[in-house]
Amino acid sequence: MTEPNSLDTGGPTDDCIQPYMIDKTGLHGRMVKLGPSVDAILSRHGYPDAVQYMLAEMLALCAGLAAALKFDGVFTLQTKGDGPVPMMVADVTSDGKMRGYAQIKGEVPPLHEAIAAPIPKLLGEGYMAFTVDQGDKMERYQGIVALEGATVAECVQRYFEQSDQFASAVNLSAGRRPDGTIGAAALLVQRLPEEGGDKSIGYADQDAWQRAMVLLKSAKPEEMLDPDLIPNELLFRLFHEDGVRVFPARAITEECRCSREKIENVLKSLEPGSMEDLKTDDGTYEVTCEFCSRTEVFTDADLGHTSA
Ligand SMILES: [Zn+2]
Repeated sequence: MTEPNSLDTGGPTDDCIQPYMIDKTGLHGRMVKLGPSVDAILSRHGYPDAVQYMLAEMLALCAGLAAALKFDGVFTLQTKGDGPVPMMVADVTSDGKMRGYAQIKGEVPPLHEAIAAPIPKLLGEGYMAFTVDQGDKMERYQGIVALEGATVAECVQRYFEQSDQFASAVNLSAGRRPDGTIGAAALLVQRLPEEGGDKSIGYADQDAWQRAMVLLKSAKPEEMLDPDLIPNELLFRLFHEDGVRVFPARAITEECRCSREKIENVLKSLEPGSMEDLKTDDGTYEVTCEFCSRTEVFTDADLGHTSA
């Protein structure tokens, strides 16, 4: 007997967050699928593949976690460690604008060496932090977890186990598509019902939770990254026996929030003497955005410095 299913075969294919609900258990989740957006972010940097794939997974995870929260501002996922990639940052605004970068210091191991255990090989020892910034007057929520486990998914899974806010399971994937561009995907299922949901579901039904986790983790990288397999189809493939329903998808776009004006204001707040590092041979100041690699050039006159 087949349950009627409200899942249609339409829906967005790429650069989207697709929320869903598993009918029989009331569990909620999201699939994040990133294509051109994540490829554009990475193509500005030229990182080694091992770093690109890890940042791509972080971006998908960041979008998936942000979508679980009600906020108006910026959700940031950041790692700090003592490995060859001391810092990675991914952030997304509540209206779906995403950006990210990695800092590289030292020798990054080749992909085939790093792929099985990117956390210790690339990031080393340190932590992963989650922040919500809603402007000066609002509270910043911060969660933190040690960089433990082999992969980003394993590390964040440890965080979920300690966290009420993100009691979730996750499956992450990043890699090259057949056309050579980079794609990434995140599948998340959340253990607590959404606000206003049925509180009797969630922690109560351990079997349903275990089953959802197993199904979620059964999605293979080639399925998650397949540009021709839309999120709705994969969700149906995974959860159809328990009935799966989707809600309107949200778009993700890649867009940096830097501006010449913001950089100018920062520079104007500095003592001219402390800006020697930014000074070029022709006496101008050059600042490059770490996120989008855009460079802005300022003269002393731009910054209101009195000439010597
Ligand atoms: Zn920028």
